[in-house]
Amino acid sequence: MERNVVSEEYINLQKGIMDEQVNIKDMINKKLVYELDKGSLNLESPVLPQMKISPVPVPLFRHAVESISHVVIKHNPDITEEFITKVRGLGDETVLNWIKGTITFDMVYFQNFSRENKIMDPSVPHFLAEQSLRPFMQVLGERCASFINDIDVMGICPCCGETLRLAILQNDGEKYLFCPRCESMWLQKKMECVHCGDDDYENLFYVTVEEDTTSKLEVCKTCRNYLKLVVEAEMTGEKQAALLDLETIHLDFVAEQEGYGENR
Ligand SMILES: [Zn+2]
Ligand SMILES: [Zn+2]
Repeated sequence: MERNVVSEEYINLQKGIMDEQVNIKDMINKKLVYELDKGSLNLESPVLPQMKISPVPVPLFRHAVESISHVVIKHNPDITEEFITKVRGLGDETVLNWIKGTITFDMVYFQNFSRENKIMDPSVPHFLAEQSLRPFMQVLGERCASFINDIDVMGICPCCGETLRLAILQNDGEKYLFCPRCESMWLQKKMECVHCGDDDYENLFYVTVEEDTTSKLEVCKTCRNYLKLVVEAEMTGEKQAALLDLETIHLDFVAEQEGYGENR
């Protein structure tokens, strides 16, 4: 299995997007205050669905989609100025549907949207929406950071509810789960499968890929779901979860070939 299944150009595109996401985050921080009080939260449920006011206001999201489109336009010939004009003109209801569809990973909605709007590359709207959502989730993640370890949910991110797929294995053996959507990081308290909670450690096994000494798959015999473990190294601390997720995408392919994971 080739390690570099993602082209350098794609990694560069992602890095360009991540830089733009930093700008969008600044804008969100200036315009939005997420009132979050740990005392009023149900700590057995992720934070995002408990919020009384949407953390993703329509006008700011539309602006985010437009900014990310400008980055993507340089790399993807299917995105044109015409497309960006279209994005700018999306009605509030459609933008709201984009937000909802992204949060709930509603691929059918985006496929229909692409078909109805004759988008050349049908994967583009969902890609843009996901990349535009992330800065909002990252701001939320920062707000949750002080109490993220107190929230107890299984199989999903305690902040944004994203399915778990990435963790950092520290040199001292501690494992930190790391969310590529909101960049939250929290300690795994028990040795168990993060998806189904099976705490018989003999039911967990590890799959390594030749020539890859920095990451591996942790697979559960019981639920057959997996987690990508990245061994902590000098550079790991500097990298965003989104980048580590991308750099370990070869493990997702291995998992798919072996039939691990759940189809979402
Ligand atoms: Zn998250
Ligand atoms: Zn399991």
